[in-house]
Amino acid sequence: MKLSVPKGTKDILSNEMKKYRQIENIFSDVCNNYGYGEITTPVFEFTELFQRGVGETTDVVSKEMYTFLDKGKRSLTLRPEGTAGVVRSYINNGMASLPQPVKLFYMEKMYRYENVQKGRYREFTQIGLEAFGSNNAVIDVEVISLVNVFFEKLGISDLKLMINSIGCKTCRGEYNIKLTEYYKDYIDGLCSDCKVRYTKNPLRLLDCKVDNCQKVASNAPVFIDNLCEECKDDFTLVKQGLENLSIDFTINKTLVRGLDYYTKTVFEFVSDNVGTQGTICAGGRYDNLVELLGGKETPGIGFAMGVERILMELESRDINMVNEVFPKLYIATLGDNAYSFASKLTYELRKQNIFVDIDVTGRSLKAQMKNANKKNARYAIVLGDDEITSNKCKIKNMATGYEEEIFVDDISKTIIENKA
Ligand SMILES: [Zn+2]
Ligand SMILES: [Zn+2]
Repeated sequence: MKLSVPKGTKDILSNEMKKYRQIENIFSDVCNNYGYGEITTPVFEFTELFQRGVGETTDVVSKEMYTFLDKGKRSLTLRPEGTAGVVRSYINNGMASLPQPVKLFYMEKMYRYENVQKGRYREFTQIGLEAFGSNNAVIDVEVISLVNVFFEKLGISDLKLMINSIGCKTCRGEYNIKLTEYYKDYIDGLCSDCKVRYTKNPLRLLDCKVDNCQKVASNAPVFIDNLCEECKDDFTLVKQGLENLSIDFTINKTLVRGLDYYTKTVFEFVSDNVGTQGTICAGGRYDNLVELLGGKETPGIGFAMGVERILMELESRDINMVNEVFPKLYIATLGDNAYSFASKLTYELRKQNIFVDIDVTGRSLKAQMKNANKKNARYAIVLGDDEITSNKCKIKNMATGYEEEIFVDDISKTIIENKA
């Protein structure tokens, strides 16, 4: 029987893996420059963490989680997103006693039982970060600017940044009353999800993608007109901070995160590229989440983005991030003596961080040279008994065909110093 991968998963083969690595390298460089340290949390956690930390009313928790009982009958869940685990870790590891803010980034596989479509998998990779311990809106600007730098480095700096504020404990209640008051007359025309949102989570009414619901949402009272003084001031600081850095943004009044622990600044980077339209990066402030998960009241802000989604965006723009790396030297050998000598030489050069290729399948000399060509090796050397005894060999520049005689003893030096 031939086995295949489960629906929504894929093998990431070498060429594709290079792109993942490249994106992760760029992201980790940018994060390091901003003072973020990397964190990895377990692939599975207690189910309760996500029920509380992502929210039971969300699609992610109510429909999409990979939840199972382990052999000890504990309910565990494969992590569907990164924030809850990092917050739990912040609490468990006493990071509140470190100098604040504590800045952490991650690059991890996530799991969601979703409808599979182009660029959307059930096992996928997210990169993201969380910063804990600063109430000040300047960190919101810093976080957004970090995303901007990352996209610039990828060559997709024309993404649209959208921002909004969804208030705090103080102003959210009053706004929700206004919102439900407004929606009261439209309930019958709303989709079934929105009927539930109306009672459980009014803010998320604004974010429904169904046409008719969007129509209703477009005339709903706007949160940024109903912010308390503190939230209003913070939103002004965010806008001014972005302007100061010349980062363009649009205020999107229906941009929300529909859970109580999200507060104040929310943002998204959106592509309006035909074919890849939609959100690439989503983030925001969550001043009530640490407390909700059992820590002491601690402000936080973060974002996440899917690497598969970024790859789609790059592909649609024909941006190739990966520089192919080829062997610097291919050593072709004839006979056992020459192979022993060459394998030692190869070992030494590889220790010095040089990409050297040597046949390990027993090919003929002719096939080895063909292989050197196929692998795009920069130089090739043939070693047989004659070369070893005479201490002389020819090094061939594979691109030009130029051959030069050198001492066998000098091969290392010639390759390391790139003298041929
Ligand atoms: Zn407020
Ligand atoms: Zn709806």
